[in-house]
Amino acid sequence: TGSTRAERLLKAVQKNARRGDPQSVISAIDHYCRHSEWAMNVGDEKGSILDSVLSEVSPSCALELGTYCGYSTVRIARLLPPGATFVTVEFNPKYAKVARQVIEFAGLQDKVKLIEGASGDLIPKMKELFGNVTFDFVFLDHWKDRYVLDTKLLEDCGLLRKGSVLLADNVICPGTPEYLAYVRNNPRYKSTYYKSHLEYTKVEDGLEKSVFMG
Ligand code: SAM
Ligand code: MG
Repeated sequence: TGSTRAERLLKAVQKNARRGDPQSVISAIDHYCRHSEWAMNVGDEKGSILDSVLSEVSPSCALELGTYCGYSTVRIARLLPPGATFVTVEFNPKYAKVARQVIEFAGLQDKVKLIEGASGDLIPKMKELFGNVTFDFVFLDHWKDRYVLDTKLLEDCGLLRKGSVLLADNVICPGTPEYLAYVRNNPRYKSTYYKSHLEYTKVEDGLEKSVFMG
């Protein structure tokens, strides 16, 4: 067939999840990607680390870089306190189209602002777009060569406050050595590694949590 992996993932959600039930959407995607077709979602194992960091931060303003099909978006949105602002950024319109449908199927469309475009263009516009915000929590999961550049851009645009938490995926696989060097050797961050595995595999990967000290 001419369908894409993202479209097949959406079909698996529509067939196997319950409308309005975020947990069933998460489970349907994990089941599909573990048993039928691998996809670059943060996945269930690292997802539970994401959940616990997020619950501890309880952000009223959160940012995700790299939406893909909306798997981590659903994971994050379902745990946010009422009234939170949550912005997710995706530059591939085909993925954004699937993600909108996944988010809507989960019933979380009112909690998510999905904006289409490149992170490097959109980060400098966040204050125009969403008011004079700072992000309490940022999930970095877009292309790995953007992690350092976009972190510096977030700093320069005044989008981080003392205590903001950055959580970066795939710091081991595919790996983000420049980013790890940046946050670990920088007195403005307090950084911790959470060892885990690449989504749906036994290959080592992990998340790096970095608290901005201001
Ligand atoms: N966070 C998602 C999840 O766990 O379900 C997975 C995101 S996937 C690993 C990375 C996504 O980032 C891709 O959909 C890609 O198109 C998008 N992307 C990569 N670089 C980007 C950039 N500079 N700006 C916006 N989106 C970007
Ligand atoms: Mg990832």
